Amino acid sequence: MTDTLQKRLFNEQQSGAAFGYAADQSRAYVETIAERPPFPSEAAIDKARAAATPLPATGVGAEEAVRAMRETFEGACVNALGGRYFGFVTGGVLPAARAARLLSDMWDQNAPLFRTSPAAAIAEEIAEAWLCELFGFPEGTVAGFVSGSSLAIYCGLAAARWRLLERQGWDFNAKGLTGAPPIRVVSGRHAHGTVVKAVTLLGLGTDNIEWVDVDADGRIDVDAVPALDANTILLLQAGNVNGGGFDDFKTLCANAKDAGAWTHVDGAFGLWAAAARDYRHLTEGMENASSWSCDAHKTLNTPYDCGVVFCRDADAIRAALHQQGSYLETGMGRDGMYMTPELSRRARAFDVWAALLSLGRNGVDELVSLLCDRAAQFADEISAAGFDLAARPSFNQLMFACDSDEETVRVLRAVQAGGECWAAGADWRGRRVIRISVCSWATTREDITASVRAFAEAREKQ
Ligand SMILES: *Cc1c(COP(=O)(O)O)cnc(C)c1O
Repeated sequence: MTDTLQKRLFNEQQSGAAFGYAADQSRAYVETIAERPPFPSEAAIDKARAAATPLPATGVGAEEAVRAMRETFEGACVNALGGRYFGFVTGGVLPAARAARLLSDMWDQNAPLFRTSPAAAIAEEIAEAWLCELFGFPEGTVAGFVSGSSLAIYCGLAAARWRLLERQGWDFNAKGLTGAPPIRVVSGRHAHGTVVKAVTLLGLGTDNIEWVDVDADGRIDVDAVPALDANTILLLQAGNVNGGGFDDFKTLCANAKDAGAWTHVDGAFGLWAAAARDYRHLTEGMENASSWSCDAHKTLNTPYDCGVVFCRDADAIRAALHQQGSYLETGMGRDGMYMTPELSRRARAFDVWAALLSLGRNGVDELVSLLCDRAAQFADEISAAGFDLAARPSFNQLMFACDSDEETVRVLRAVQAGGECWAAGADWRGRRVIRISVCSWATTREDITASVRAFAEAREKQ
């Protein structure tokens, strides 16, 4: 029995039929991205749902399984790659990063230790150095490659919790939180939901957050920040997910540093401003923070999923995320597991490395500027079309609305159903708005003009 299965698997591997089919179809998909709707039709979604049948007793084999996968699911995919998808903050994919992902998927490296993959460890080391230089982080800053900002924020705050308690003579790893000295958490009211989630996961408790009011763009009111001390975690953001605002790092990070507080900067998409000449002023002073997080799968346009945590206090993050086992041979080189919560982990640094190498420093600058230029164009054209701009883009995000919430919702639904472009809604300062996040390198000027026209036409038909 087992020999029969093994023989079949070897045959499948050797014939290459499944892989050849997948490679051909992958290429065909990428070549037709521009013709695909940004969001799937109801019929395509129903077709995928119809695949919910019991698992057959006898398998269909590799080629048939991959064929069935494409036929079942391809039509129900969201097309965020094509230039007219503005939902959430969903990045497109650079050609180099896509190809690097494909190749490294074949390598299937496991990245916790130098011993489990020297290639992945070295790629991480180089990507870490390149990113720290692009963002202007201090010497000695370390990076952990995780699934996204959710986890990157968690890692930064885990390091903060460990260090703030250690300073008070409390060994968190041994004693836990029960009976621990209190940790204060200070945050702007518009902190991202994943920041709040990290606070809950880490046992710091949302009731303990000292909320600070924010301005029209979602930026912390500097004068409203309570006195900081060495038991405080200050949560800042580079790029509010709705308003796009960047906190005043120059003042806040410096104040926090003087007080001995730990500052974490959530820069999921906005940290990349630091890598662009025309936008660098937005992040000025953030190098004085203690930890930072960003997504490569947003602004850098690597495939999902890839987030990065940066920590200037290498000992703290290593202590917070420490693990051991006699079978784990460490210390042969970079052991990435000390900067992440997982042991086994895919080697995300290959995508980042190839993306950065393909663009170069100037290319990263141009990519960031391109997204921001398109957002500015969208803002100009949508307000010229008579919509009310609820938030001007300071970076790659903007929001607008119709005369009433009801009209805004109807227009958004009509555009979502129309297939010309896709955006999501949000609540902003007491009203319903339409959010636009320009996050794909593939969004052209024509895409923006056509998308604005789609909104204008949908409003006329109301
Ligand atoms: C997207 C986003 C997050 C969460 O990132 P994930 O990669 O989805 O986990 C956190 N903060 C901000 C500001 C974001 O835009």
